[in-house]
Amino acid sequence: MLNGERKIVRPLRWAMVGGGRLSQVGYKHRTGALRDNTAFQLVAGAFDIDPERGKDFGVNIGVEESRCYSDYKTMFNEEKKREDGIEVVSIATPNGTHHEICKAALEAGLHVVCEKPLFFTTEEVIEIKQLAEEKEKIVGVTYGFSGNQMLLQMRAMIEKGDIGDIRMVELQYTHGFSATDEADKYSAAQKWRVDPKIAGPSFVLGDLSTHTYYMSQLIMPDLKISKLLCDRQSFIESRAPLEDNAYVLMHFENGAVGRMWTSSVNAGCMDGHRIRIVGSKASLEWWDSKPGELSYEIQGKPAQTLIRAMPYLDESCNADERLGALHVEGLSDSWANIYLKFAIAIDAKDRGDQETLDNLVYPDINAGLEGVRWIENCVRSADQGSVWVDFEYEQKTHL
Ligand code: NAD
Repeated sequence: MLNGERKIVRPLRWAMVGGGRLSQVGYKHRTGALRDNTAFQLVAGAFDIDPERGKDFGVNIGVEESRCYSDYKTMFNEEKKREDGIEVVSIATPNGTHHEICKAALEAGLHVVCEKPLFFTTEEVIEIKQLAEEKEKIVGVTYGFSGNQMLLQMRAMIEKGDIGDIRMVELQYTHGFSATDEADKYSAAQKWRVDPKIAGPSFVLGDLSTHTYYMSQLIMPDLKISKLLCDRQSFIESRAPLEDNAYVLMHFENGAVGRMWTSSVNAGCMDGHRIRIVGSKASLEWWDSKPGELSYEIQGKPAQTLIRAMPYLDESCNADERLGALHVEGLSDSWANIYLKFAIAIDAKDRGDQETLDNLVYPDINAGLEGVRWIENCVRSADQGSVWVDFEYEQKTHL
């Protein structure tokens, strides 16, 4: 169980790029990173594309005015001159800016936490992975709900064989907030999401399904896709070629099959993030609306609901418990768990503690790479006319 006591010797000096006043995701980063007061301290930021608004915002959240910078390049240069300069930066800007900011941060000697989808191509990820290795830095990726401890329960039960051999993998991350084109006109956050120059080669496949894909890999680390077929649509035509809905059929190397449905036009849907794993003996199901519950259905027996914080759960699951039974946990706790693991990873990297790094389960740059690889394979299938394609693990990795 976590209680906020320090896991690393002192909090890391942390900054943000983006995540300013009008951003959707900025506060999630801060609730995650600052939750324990022993992992990160927010000391600087280039919070906004609008420098004045960024400065005003930074001061309002308690950052010293002189360390609220007009842009990330100035921040990296100025902070380098200080003895107490920043050690790690989070990038919470639109997708098309991630690669250049991440590269500049690593070159400035910083650890990085970056938003998903990490970059546009696997080539870019491999380039940054090599740079991070050279600079001996961590790059973490914020798959927000992946810090939910019930996913570790699923991982442990599947590893122990509680559901038998995996047969079907049902993944869904959908909502209905883009069911009309209204937000495409007035919302800055929606406008860039449907512009390929800023969003990259996909809309919902990158924006939503990369989360669920990573979570499925976290739950079943040995499961590998052999082929997939992706059918993507733009129900709001102005969004083409970017999809607002997609179905992906998957075949796995162990003979299992699966589906991913991702959509922003699932009208009326408020919380369609579900993972159901069907095995030869039983099934497990998690749903983001009830993140502290796991449905465990054994064939021929009454269905059970496993509840978080209970002693019958796996040790790995209860290790990430924060509030104890009887009290609700959710997305913010998940973000806090991920950020705590980023802090532990950064500290271990700085101390050259490879054993800790090898045993830590968290979304690292490889998780970012797999997310981009997933999008590339889906888009390749869809753009050939929604045909089955072999899942290419090594495509575009010729650097
Ligand atoms: P947004 O448009 O709401 O906010 C973007 C923020 O970045 C704004 O504050 C803007 O002023 C700032 N910004 C843009 N360019 C900048 C620059 N060059 N320097 C400094 N600041 C800059 O976008 P959002 O919805 O918050 O998404 C941002 C990123 O987070 C995207 O990559 C998105 O995919 C991701 N995201 C992740 C989650 C999650 O759960 N992990 C949730 C939402 C968004």
